[in-house]
Amino acid sequence: MERTASCLCGDLRITVDGDPARVNMCSCTECQRRSGSAFQIGTFFQESQIKAIEGESRIYTRTGGSGNAIDLHFCPTCGVSVYFRPAARPSIVGIHGGCFADPDFPAPNTAGWNKHKHDWVVIPDGTEGFDENPQ
Ligand SMILES: [Zn+2]
Ligand SMILES: [Zn+2]
Repeated sequence: MERTASCLCGDLRITVDGDPARVNMCSCTECQRRSGSAFQIGTFFQESQIKAIEGESRIYTRTGGSGNAIDLHFCPTCGVSVYFRPAARPSIVGIHGGCFADPDFPAPNTAGWNKHKHDWVVIPDGTEGFDENPQ
């Protein structure tokens, strides 16, 4: 099954085949600021699952909780960051789950940085929670 994630204006798109290896909801303060929301949904795919990347992207590099660089690829027109590449895991591409805008997307396997979680956010049943980075 192919799914396409896109930015708000639609110029930057990434299409992947098959289900993600992991879906993580992250409440770290960086993800709150990046997403403009209470948490972000990080979906992780193998590089081999990428079918197409269309449109121009610019890169903002941030340092993750592990201390490793993460390249955020964002649309230069609308500013939405669609996908990211963790330097520590070169065979993995991360895609921001909201960019799929798909209510049927698989639920999170893990929930990270719950020590910064907003009190009203409820971790779904069956999702494993962690105070900091998920293991
Ligand atoms: Zn855009
Ligand atoms: Zn985070």
